[in-house]
Amino acid sequence: MKNDADFRARQLELIENNVNAGKEPPWREALKVTAGFAAILAALYIIIGIAVGIYVNAISFKTQKKIESLFAAANPSAEFKGKEYAQAVSALREISAQIAAQNRLPENYAPDIGVVYSRAANAFLTPGGKIYFTTALLDNVKNKEALAFVLAHEIGHYVNRDHLKAMGRGLALSVVKILFSGDSSTGVVSGGTDAIARNSYSRGQEREADAYAQKVCTALYGSADGGIEFFEYMEAKDKLPEFISYLSTHPSTRSRIQKLRNN
Ligand SMILES: [Zn+2]
Repeated sequence: MKNDADFRARQLELIENNVNAGKEPPWREALKVTAGFAAILAALYIIIGIAVGIYVNAISFKTQKKIESLFAAANPSAEFKGKEYAQAVSALREISAQIAAQNRLPENYAPDIGVVYSRAANAFLTPGGKIYFTTALLDNVKNKEALAFVLAHEIGHYVNRDHLKAMGRGLALSVVKILFSGDSSTGVVSGGTDAIARNSYSRGQEREADAYAQKVCTALYGSADGGIEFFEYMEAKDKLPEFISYLSTHPSTRSRIQKLRNN
């Protein structure tokens, strides 16, 4: 019987050794699979982002308008419908007509301008090509040249198709998120819109938009001092929590003022 017991013990030992032979603890295996999967998703995100960038740069203005029309209805829910800002909007429309007269816009493009309720002074461009000013910005920044700089900056993003590139990146992120979680409830379109809402432009894109605004404002007013006034206002408000997100996605306000002064 002793031999029998020995035999069984040896068998068990062999089975155990066999199970563990060349194997790592299960958590390590799981970690490797997850890391591999994450690496594939990250690569996919980068590839889709690059492909969208190349595509967006290559399309005609007509195709651009077609893509924008798909998103025309996706306007911010906090859109301000009242008449209180009608005068400010018509002044901005007038400035945009002056910019169009400089031939610095795609042919037949007249930016649609809207107002959105927000306590953060900001302006942004939607995937549909509409430019929004927040109520806080219109309440606090009254100087026409400062508002012209902000408008021209957003038009600069439009001319460089940054809104479509950001949307493409948002789209890539949505695809990756859906693949990762298997949950498609967020939707691809809302991912693109979210990217815009987060103001997710790169510093390079911001610099380009500033440079465009500087050219436009210098042609209109002889200088881009309006931009300096706007940034100084933003800098003074810098410590308020609602401005942190705006400033963190933009080049430092100081460096932007410096750039406008140097030119
Ligand atoms: Zn910008």
